[in-house]
Amino acid sequence: MNAPLHHELPPSGLDPVRALDQVTRQWDTDILRQLTDYVAIPAKSPGFDPDWAAHGHIDTVLRNAATWVEAQKVDGLTLEVVRLPGRTPVLFFEVAATRAAASSAQTVLMYGHLDKQPEFSGWRADLGPWTPKYEDGKLYGRGAADDGYAVYASIAAVQALKAQNVAHPRIVGLIETSEESGSRDLLPYIDALRTRLGDVGLVICLDSGAGNYEQLWLTTSLRGMAAGTLKVQVLTEGVHSGDASGLVPSSFRIMRQVLDRLEDSQTGRLLPEIFHCDVPAQRLEQARATAAILGDEVYKRFPWAHYDCGGATAFALPTTTDPVQALINRTWTPTLSVTGAEGLPALQDAGNVLRPYTAFKLSLRLPPLVDAAQAVQRLKALLEDNAPYQAHVTFEPFSAATGWNAPDTVPWFEQALHRASQAHFGAPCGYIGQGGTIPLMNMLSEGFPQAQMMVCGVLGPRSNAHGPNEFLHVPYAKRLTAAVAEVMAAMP
Ligand SMILES: [Zn+2]
Repeated sequence: MNAPLHHELPPSGLDPVRALDQVTRQWDTDILRQLTDYVAIPAKSPGFDPDWAAHGHIDTVLRNAATWVEAQKVDGLTLEVVRLPGRTPVLFFEVAATRAAASSAQTVLMYGHLDKQPEFSGWRADLGPWTPKYEDGKLYGRGAADDGYAVYASIAAVQALKAQNVAHPRIVGLIETSEESGSRDLLPYIDALRTRLGDVGLVICLDSGAGNYEQLWLTTSLRGMAAGTLKVQVLTEGVHSGDASGLVPSSFRIMRQVLDRLEDSQTGRLLPEIFHCDVPAQRLEQARATAAILGDEVYKRFPWAHYDCGGATAFALPTTTDPVQALINRTWTPTLSVTGAEGLPALQDAGNVLRPYTAFKLSLRLPPLVDAAQAVQRLKALLEDNAPYQAHVTFEPFSAATGWNAPDTVPWFEQALHRASQAHFGAPCGYIGQGGTIPLMNMLSEGFPQAQMMVCGVLGPRSNAHGPNEFLHVPYAKRLTAAVAEVMAAMP
């Protein structure tokens, strides 16, 4: 990608060429190796590893990150691993401001997480979740991109400022280890650390996505989520299906009926109105601009099933091929995914048995402005009440988090993003909503309504966080690191 044509210093005083040089060297000589070690450790989020404390992996990755941060000897940095009883730990660091008192009142809050999604299946034969492999600028394996790199990139950005003696505001960092479980341990830490966070004027959250790898992308919204287990039980044990079927209702059929209350299976539309919200006009406008940049890559980037159909190759199709609608569908529309099942034997073990129960793990994504706690309440009543055949139908919530819509950007922030994107990518900053969830963002926007939110990330096309063959796009991560330094330097 292009270096800037005019090598002149922006108002921030940070030389972008030198900054990118420095972070590139740091990534190549050190950070990549740290993340390679990180991938090998199965630091699964507590929701997927109830014995996380005994296994010790969460502690190992947190300790490794803390040791690395301390070894950087960043001027004015202090660090602490904070542990509340019975909760996953967090890493908290503070870097003193280097600006005159008058302009240093506000704080930058950097955020990331070190817990990981579980393994999932379908990894390429030479790859695996805990088997790091670096190939063509990509570090494969679970968690490097989501979101192990964040703490390393954040500190490297601070170091880039220090190396050029660029004055910066007070900076704090909060690195948690329960994000992939809906950040269920985070709120008590925010409460405990509230006074030490200070007056947050800028949040830098490196746990999000990118529309492509050709420019800086600012996340404008996130969906919320509500997850839980829906179980339908009709018998206490399985019985001969020839003996019982037709008389004993199938738990699977009741499951379908119950799910039909929630979702129109023809269109995928979730039926309760409280799961929907309007798309703000500005977001629609931004979706149009982003659709013009990305075109049909918006849906082509997915690994669609394909097969031979009368000599031609047929592909499974998306819900829409209109790029604007596609962007809206994945960011402002509520959806249901069934992410797991129980009560169903593997195909090879399935005899002619009328099974006693069917259980599904449901994962709902909620539009940015829908309250997740209310949605869960509604969901439980909708699924459990008036069960067909008086079957035993239960919904046990697993996690819930409200989505987020970014506050309006102020001029210095918008200009800094564009300058950073031009300097490091030679293209303007893009704006995109993301369909995933970062529970912290809603908490922060409520706690610091005036703060600007630099929510960015490396999860671009095919990076496949949560699925098989997850990778960290290292060239993008380097430029993003330098862009973070640029924005921090520009904060008034
Ligand atoms: Zn994440």
